[in-house]
Amino acid sequence: MPPRARTAWFRTLGLLLLILAAATVLGLLSGQLFPFLTVTALGIVAWHYWRLRKVLIRLTARQRLTPSNSDGVWNELDRLLYRTQGEMRARKRRLMEMLRAYRAAAAALPDAIIVVERNSQRIQWFNEAGTRLLGLRYPDDIGASLVQRLQPMPLAHWMAAGRNAEPLETYSPFNPGATLSLRLIPYSENLWLLVARDVSRLLQLEQMRRDFVANVSHELRTPLTVIHGYLDMLDPEEQPDWAPMLAEMQRQSQRMTQLVEDLLTLSRLESQDHLQAEEHVSMASMLHTLRREAAALSQGRHQIDIDDSAHVDLLGSGKELHSAFSNLVSNAVRYTPAGGRIEIAWRPDGQGGVALQVTDSGYGIPASHLPRITERFYRVSTSRSRESGGTGLGLAIVKHVLQLHEARLEISSEVGQGSTFSCHFGAGRVRPHDLPAPIDPPAPVHS
Ligand code: ADP
Repeated sequence: MPPRARTAWFRTLGLLLLILAAATVLGLLSGQLFPFLTVTALGIVAWHYWRLRKVLIRLTARQRLTPSNSDGVWNELDRLLYRTQGEMRARKRRLMEMLRAYRAAAAALPDAIIVVERNSQRIQWFNEAGTRLLGLRYPDDIGASLVQRLQPMPLAHWMAAGRNAEPLETYSPFNPGATLSLRLIPYSENLWLLVARDVSRLLQLEQMRRDFVANVSHELRTPLTVIHGYLDMLDPEEQPDWAPMLAEMQRQSQRMTQLVEDLLTLSRLESQDHLQAEEHVSMASMLHTLRREAAALSQGRHQIDIDDSAHVDLLGSGKELHSAFSNLVSNAVRYTPAGGRIEIAWRPDGQGGVALQVTDSGYGIPASHLPRITERFYRVSTSRSRESGGTGLGLAIVKHVLQLHEARLEISSEVGQGSTFSCHFGAGRVRPHDLPAPIDPPAPVHS
C-alpha cells in the first residue's frame, strides 16, 4: 500500500476508535453503555454506506467529479479513482489518435485493402482504393460475403488455400481493362487481409519490353541471314591470307544468329501463359534424339549414357520440350571437359511424377550462383560460355518451357564434380508408352 493510502487508512481507523471510546465514556457516565455504543456503531455504518454511495456515483458518472480535499480513507479512495480515471481517459485518447492515424494511412494507400473475417469470409472493413479498384460500396458492403460481392473473380477456390494461396492475377470486376494482383495475408487468428494492386501499367511495360526485344530480334534476323549466307559463299582457299579472319567472321555470325534465334524463342515462350497445343510426346524417341545430338556435339570426347527407367511418355509440346532438354544436354557437353561422362535419364521422381535428369561430371556450378542461374545472360564464367558458343539464354528457355508444362527445374551441383539438372513433371502430364523405342541403325562393319 502506498504511504499516503496507509496514513489515510490509519487516520480513519484512529477516528473510528476515538468515536467508539468517546461513546463508551459517555455510555459509562450516563449508565447507558450499550444503547450509546449501538447508536454510535449504527451511525458509523450509515456514514460508511453514504461514502460507498459516493464511490459508486463516481464510478458510474460520465463526467469527472473532482475529489474533496479531506484526509480520510474514503477520500483517498476517491482521489485514487479520480487519478485512474484520468490516466485511462488519456490512454484511450492516445489509442484513438493512433487508430485514426493508422486508418487514415490504410485509407490513403493506393492498393485496395480489405479486412475479411476468416470463417464467414465477410467483409469487415475496406479502404478507399477498395471502392476505386473493386467497386466496393461503403457502408452497404460491410458484412457482405467477399466471394459473392467480387464475382466473377475466381476467389472461392483461391481463398480456400488460405495461408498458402499464391498471388492471383485477375481482371478487375469493376474495370475489365485493369489487371489486379491479389494477395491474401492472414494476420490474426480470425482475420485476413486481402490486398489488391493494380498491375496493369507494370504488365503494359513488361509487354512493351517483350515486344521491343521480339521486334529487334526479328529485324536483325534478315540482315544476319544475308551476311551469314555471303560468308558461307566465300572460299578461304581463294584467299588463304583471309582464311583465319573468314573462319572467325563465320563463327561470330553463327553466334549472332543463334542469339537472335534464342531471343525469338524466349519472346515466343514469354508471350504464352499456357501451351497452345498439347500432344503425346514419345519420350523414347526424345531420348534417342537427345543422345544423337549429344554425340554430335561431343564428337566422341565424352561417354554418353541413356537410362529410361520411367517407361512413360509426356503430354505437352514436343517442340518446346525438345528445345529445353537439348539445351540441358548441350550445356552438359559444353561444360564437361573431354573424357567426362554425361547421363540422360528419364525416371520416376519418387513423388508421383517423372523427371528428366541430365547429369554430367563437368566443372560444376558454385552454390552462390545457383539461385540466379536461370536468369537471361547470367553466366558463371562469361569467357567459358562464349568459348563454348553459349548465348546465356539456354536455361532461361528451359525455365519457361517447364513453366508452361507446370514442371519445375531442380539443379544440384558441386564444383569439380559435376551437375544434375532435373526437370520434374507432375503425374497429370504422364501418359503410358505408345511406341517402342527406335533402334539405332547398326554401326557400319569395316572390312
Ligand atoms: P550459356 O549459353 O552461357 O550456356 P545457359 O543459360 O545455358 O547459358 O547457362 C547459364 C550458365 O550456367 C552458363 O553460362 C554456365 O556458366 C552455367 N551452366 C549451365 N549448365 C551448366 C553445366 N552443366 N555445368 C556447369 N555450368 C553450367
